[in-house]
Amino acid sequence: MKQGNAVLSGLGTTVFESMSRLAAEHRAVNLGQGFPDDKGPEDMLRIAADAVVDGWNQYPSMMGVPELRQAVARHENRFYGLDVDWQREVMVTSGATEALAGALLALIEPGDEVILFQPMYDAYAPLVRRAGGVPRYVTLTPPDWRLDIAAVKAAVGPATKAILFNNPLNPAARVFGEPELRDLADLVVVNDLFAICDEVYEHIVFDGRRHIPLITLPGMRERTIKIGSAGKTFSLTGWKVGYITAAPELLSILAKAHQYLTFTTPPGLQTAVAHGLEKDDGYFDGLAQEMQRRRDRLTEGLRRTGFTVLPCEGTYFVNIDLSDAASVDDVTYCRRMTEEAGVTSIPVSAFCPENPVTTVARFCFAKQDRVLDEAVDRLARWRDSMG
Ligand code: PMP
Ligand code: GLN
Repeated sequence: MKQGNAVLSGLGTTVFESMSRLAAEHRAVNLGQGFPDDKGPEDMLRIAADAVVDGWNQYPSMMGVPELRQAVARHENRFYGLDVDWQREVMVTSGATEALAGALLALIEPGDEVILFQPMYDAYAPLVRRAGGVPRYVTLTPPDWRLDIAAVKAAVGPATKAILFNNPLNPAARVFGEPELRDLADLVVVNDLFAICDEVYEHIVFDGRRHIPLITLPGMRERTIKIGSAGKTFSLTGWKVGYITAAPELLSILAKAHQYLTFTTPPGLQTAVAHGLEKDDGYFDGLAQEMQRRRDRLTEGLRRTGFTVLPCEGTYFVNIDLSDAASVDDVTYCRRMTEEAGVTSIPVSAFCPENPVTTVARFCFAKQDRVLDEAVDRLARWRDSMG
């Protein structure tokens, strides 16, 4: 028998799927996979339902329905002051994941190097490799996960084509601020790189922080692909509606990848997301405030239980430092936590392809209060039982 593709056949099942399966097996409270247990905004659900029943359900334009592309352009202007031409600079994708895959397929030639910052979303390295690229890792370390620009410089070489940068960063829960972003943008410009920016958590930032898209920094407008997702911004992760903002020359290549990947995205969902992006500031502020409240609730509970909780500036996630709680690595610890305590988290080593950090576990706090409280109670009982 011939073999299938070496990159894909060499991969395991994603950590989200395997930890969710383990959680179900042990009836654990699942704070592993990152998704909110809210229904999502009622008005958007209604618009989508009406659009499916009464509207057009055939292929929409491959670039996305005009309403949504216009809404994305207005969103980029309203929140970040960007001047975006919706017809030449916006494309709708089937989730941020398709946007990431398409961007890599569109930009990478075999052997091109791509700078990745670990810990990172687990799809990145396989997507780079499957596109023929070679990942070069820059490691951020807890507790502050700072971007060491000297380490980025050291990773850049003649074959470097792009950086793939996630801000706010899953799983480290960092929101990179102006000084780090300036250094990074300078480096990207000086080395003539592309920046693929995964900003799906752009509206989930806490304590008065402001998300700054890398595309807004000097010299970045022409070389950056900014990716957003309705999944995170409207707590509708199953919809898989994503959007790209990029300069026309870049977007036209990305469109070629998109036309042969998914071509389009369900029209009714696009219409509802267009409506969502036009919501007033109260919605966006409310989302951040509500997620911050849940962060605080879980953080306080974990601290009361005796865990060392790392700072969380944004995203759905808080991390605990296991270095003094456990004599085992994070994978073993998270497995035991599911089996013995009935609470599931994700070992952060799963987000590090090279020399992984093995002392951190990630919890998703985008859950109802009673779910968070139940998880904390179970963890307290588990810690007590260990004496
Ligand atoms: N990037 C990051 C950092 C994520 O955490 C996720 C997933 N939740 C995605 C991309 C994928 O987004 P989507 O569901 O829109 O494909
Ligand atoms: N992005 C989500 C997380 O980090 C999970 C996405 C998925 O399950 N594929 O948990």
